[in-house]
Amino acid sequence: MNTPKYIKIKEVDNVATTVISIDKGTEIVDGILANSPIPQGHKIALTDIPKDGEIIRYGVVLGYALNNISKGDWINETMLVLPTPPDIHNMKYGVNVKHKLPISPVTTFEGYRNPKGGYGGTRNILAISTTVQCVTGVLNVAVEKIKRELLPHYKNVDDVVAINHAYGCGVAINAPDAVIPIRALKNLIDNPNFGGEVMVIALGCEKLTVDKLLNEVDITPENIIVLQEQEGFEAMIAAIVSMADHKLRRLNDRRRETLPLSELCIGMQCGGSDSFSGVTSNPSAGYASDMLVQAGATVMFSEVTEVRDGVHILAERCLDEKTMKKLENEMKWYDNYLEMGNVDRSANPTPGNKKGGLSNIVEKAMGSIAKSGTSPIVEVLSPGEKPSKKGLIYAATPASDIVCGPMQLASGITLQVFMTGRGTPYGLAAAPVVKVSSRTDLKDMWKDLIDVNAGVIATGESSIEEVGTELFHFIVDVASGRKQTWAERYKLYNDLCIFNPAPIT
Ligand code: CA
Repeated sequence: MNTPKYIKIKEVDNVATTVISIDKGTEIVDGILANSPIPQGHKIALTDIPKDGEIIRYGVVLGYALNNISKGDWINETMLVLPTPPDIHNMKYGVNVKHKLPISPVTTFEGYRNPKGGYGGTRNILAISTTVQCVTGVLNVAVEKIKRELLPHYKNVDDVVAINHAYGCGVAINAPDAVIPIRALKNLIDNPNFGGEVMVIALGCEKLTVDKLLNEVDITPENIIVLQEQEGFEAMIAAIVSMADHKLRRLNDRRRETLPLSELCIGMQCGGSDSFSGVTSNPSAGYASDMLVQAGATVMFSEVTEVRDGVHILAERCLDEKTMKKLENEMKWYDNYLEMGNVDRSANPTPGNKKGGLSNIVEKAMGSIAKSGTSPIVEVLSPGEKPSKKGLIYAATPASDIVCGPMQLASGITLQVFMTGRGTPYGLAAAPVVKVSSRTDLKDMWKDLIDVNAGVIATGESSIEEVGTELFHFIVDVASGRKQTWAERYKLYNDLCIFNPAPIT
């Protein structure tokens, strides 16, 4: 089979991207020869583009030419001027609401029923929460002991996870934006993978007191250990191990049951993206997402700076005015947040993104929003909020992988799908992470880190629908405990970096 040399997305595009690295003089399209070597995934001009002329990919203006560009030239990030972002005022809503979605081949998964109601779990984990970073050292020692001495006796429990974080004290706890980290840590305790068990380690003098973290009914000696009330280190460890033993016994009684897919809540994000992400991995994830939504499941996508330039397109898919307005407000809040730091959305992308052919944030955003598929957007969440609806949800979080992960966990995801082009071994201890590569080269190099390869779409060996369906089945298999992801197998777990936009004191 002849591998195509280039990918042109929309008819109006005046650039294409290379499927593989090409030499100077290579004829990429009839009559168009590369004027220089062009790296894999980078843009080649299909027409002459005058200075200030539009550079178009995905049918949208990525930017304006800084200087004259000739047909066949390599276009990289140094050659474009960023356009102004889309106006978020007066966005249209409900004008592009598709209800015809790909039919889901299955309608159930094998999950853990949630004793508190709501979404079911994909794993059965004892989570030990903390009010403050000060307790982390002691808790980590105790968790090692619990894993070594107790966990082997509780065959139905998957893991013991410490919810360590940098928040809790030395912070302006009454600052308006402190609601974000506090809400996230509070909601994280209710993640369905934690089986409704509450166990909190506090210090005793911190600002994030247990009453800020827990509902009144959960504030009992059975759920909370205060280190300043313990007679030294040995007593602390003994208290934590003893409470964990009690919780593990209850969790061990849980069994997987056949649950409707409407009880599954997953998240999507990408990291280390490249120019293939928007044409291979992210649209495949979007297709899988549409199938899940069709079956009644909930799918969250996030990453504010990576949707900002496509927000008008998302607004058109919002079901009602309230949802669109909340989308507008989240964008406004983030624009302001960036402005306070004297930057704007151009602070994203990364050097690796650029090396992978992404010239600027407009190009990255157009690829990023593809992961949301075509489903209507039924709800928009502020960072760390819990959903009240099922279906496709925009959960506003930073795009940073290690912040988006825990913030989506706080919103209740029990599995995350992670698309990557450059490659990252990212993972979460609290929920399995399915990694999807945008390029076959990455899958070949990282055979034992990438779960699903979407690079075969770029080479013409497979279609978005085929990879999307494969990914759908893999998601359901992992959610049901029939399969493990590579990150899970090797226990590649990133720290939980809770989003704290409020001042530290
Ligand atoms: Ca990300």
